[in-house]
Amino acid sequence: MALMINDNCIACDACLPACPNNAIFDKRSAGEERGYHIGEGQGVDNSIYVITYERCTECVGHFDEPQCASVCPMGDCCVPDPVRAESKEVLLERAERINPNKVIHSDKAWQGVRG
Ligand code: SF4
Ligand code: SF4
Repeated sequence: MALMINDNCIACDACLPACPNNAIFDKRSAGEERGYHIGEGQGVDNSIYVITYERCTECVGHFDEPQCASVCPMGDCCVPDPVRAESKEVLLERAERINPNKVIHSDKAWQGVRG
């Protein structure tokens, strides 16, 4: 599963530098221009932040909780994407694949992992 950013986003930028996987973009077009896919229901009017499911690991492998949700001042706009349920193993594999030069911690995972 990946997280997604809903319409409550106020584009404050707190989440972008906190993401260990560079999965967040300041607008939908910024991610798509780099070749990433953004899930449905994000980036309304191309003016708020988005998460690409191709790089989000729910912070598995890095932290015990999703950092975007942790730092977000709105509290309720970085949420699980309901159509992208993935296991801890799949998320860990992604963390390792997209971060070849980082140490990935297999014991780091939050309680919200599904699948
Ligand atoms: S859950 Fe973690 S990896 Fe996914 S977008 Fe948020 S900070 Fe990045
Ligand atoms: S921290 Fe929250 S409000 Fe700020 S840009 Fe990220 S999702 Fe939007």
